[in-house]
Amino acid sequence: MHPDLVLTNARLLDPGRGAFLPHDTLVLREGRIAGFEADAGAGAEVLDLGGAVVVPGLTDGHLHPVSGAERTAGVDLSGCTDLEGVRAALAAAVRDLPEGQWLRGWGLDPNAFGDLPVSADSVGTVLDGVPAAIDLFDAHSMLASRRALELAGIDGPRRFDQGSAEVVCDPAGRPTGLLLEDAACELVEAVAPRPSFEELCRASAEVLRRMAAAGLTGGHAMDANGESLAVYAALEERGQLPLRLRIAPWVQPGVSPAELADLVRHQGEGGRRWRIAGAKLFMDGTIDNGTAWLEQPDCHGQSTGAFWPDPAEYTRVVGELHRAGVPTATHAIGDAAVRHVLDAVERAVAVHGKGTVRHRVEHIETVPDDTVARFAALGVAASMQPTHCTEYTRADHTDNWSRRLGGERADRAFRCRDLAESGARVVLGSDWPIAPFEPLGVMAGARHRRPGRDLRQPPHLPGQALTPLQALAGYTLAPAWAAGEEDRAGRLAVGHRADLTVLGQDPLAVPDTELADVPVLLTVSDGEVTHRAG
Ligand SMILES: [Zn+2]
Repeated sequence: MHPDLVLTNARLLDPGRGAFLPHDTLVLREGRIAGFEADAGAGAEVLDLGGAVVVPGLTDGHLHPVSGAERTAGVDLSGCTDLEGVRAALAAAVRDLPEGQWLRGWGLDPNAFGDLPVSADSVGTVLDGVPAAIDLFDAHSMLASRRALELAGIDGPRRFDQGSAEVVCDPAGRPTGLLLEDAACELVEAVAPRPSFEELCRASAEVLRRMAAAGLTGGHAMDANGESLAVYAALEERGQLPLRLRIAPWVQPGVSPAELADLVRHQGEGGRRWRIAGAKLFMDGTIDNGTAWLEQPDCHGQSTGAFWPDPAEYTRVVGELHRAGVPTATHAIGDAAVRHVLDAVERAVAVHGKGTVRHRVEHIETVPDDTVARFAALGVAASMQPTHCTEYTRADHTDNWSRRLGGERADRAFRCRDLAESGARVVLGSDWPIAPFEPLGVMAGARHRRPGRDLRQPPHLPGQALTPLQALAGYTLAPAWAAGEEDRAGRLAVGHRADLTVLGQDPLAVPDTELADVPVLLTVSDGEVTHRAG
């Protein structure tokens, strides 16, 4: 089905041992690694890699390809570090906006607001009369203009099934424009124009092409929202799906027994490179928005509650999914949220037996020592996005995230190293579009703990830096384990999938601060070349 491929003059890096294999040839046949001897026979394409380094295909443990492609269609505010910059970018976008159209934006960092509240008023007059919906960088909150609120009929507080969802209002009960969590943002999304299916396919194909060019051969997609599944099917049909995707649909508070049964029934469905696997749940929101679930409130008295208004209901749902053999991935950022997820898994295992299901926790932004130790014991994967720490917080704790938490809890930020040393499987990822998807950049951030845009900045908690080998494992061995596929993915071994990333330099030998710039020469998925450097 795939043309066979023989890679010669290759340095084959094993992320298990952190050493090169004693071979210089890799033979790929029918989507698998067939061996290390060049007797592939006629018809095989032979590529001389000239000493380049082959690693198992890099897999991002947490991303949102289709919803991200839609989200990033508007004006990019991720480079704006102060309000002046935000206003200028929005003013320029308004100037180019056809009359009556909606303005969409993404990547807005609450740190840009300094001491002012994140509100429509803080942005000033640039959006007057313009329907605008701007995603904050965490994708858990939105800033809506006055006109957008009006069109959505939002004129005061609302109640939601999601505990931390909120239409933020001023003391007079007037909405400020800040909407917290999906249920609140959805009020505006419902009246804002959506891209056509074709537009969504085009944008998604372009994003996936860039991901393959960055060296990704796979990803764990953490939503099946909107038309995502139809887009994956259409792209595969058109030969535009270069990544192997595991897709975890959301299970939200208030889920009905019928919906849960539906999710269980659809497990494993998909195409050749994409398939529904697992479920994504949320235990809290974000620290920046005051919607995380902390054992003790943050400095504003916020982040005190769970996303599930009744956390016991979450525990029950995890138990049911566990019993049905569905692996769960739960967004849990605050210490109380992470603790609750681990409690729920522990209980599910106690009641229904361990089985073969592997659960995971997403994000884990601040946790105490005793929580760190539970991951390995329970066999729960720790899915971390180190660049959320290195790009959006500061070592001196002057950023919004650190100030809200205070020194003690900010010093427990993104404990990748402690989790890895405790024996937990640490899966790395970008959570794109929350942070850039380039895997070498994420691995670099995990290693140097500095913002990629300015490597002169001091590292944030350098003690939590991963070793080069731990970082590489986070994109190879760990995602394969989390997917229950360690017997066929994550290593350069005979019988394993022919998913490979070829790099210009040895990622274990290159300095941390230079890793992001190592060229990706070749990406291979299923034995098929999905990217070849010019
Ligand atoms: Zn996510």
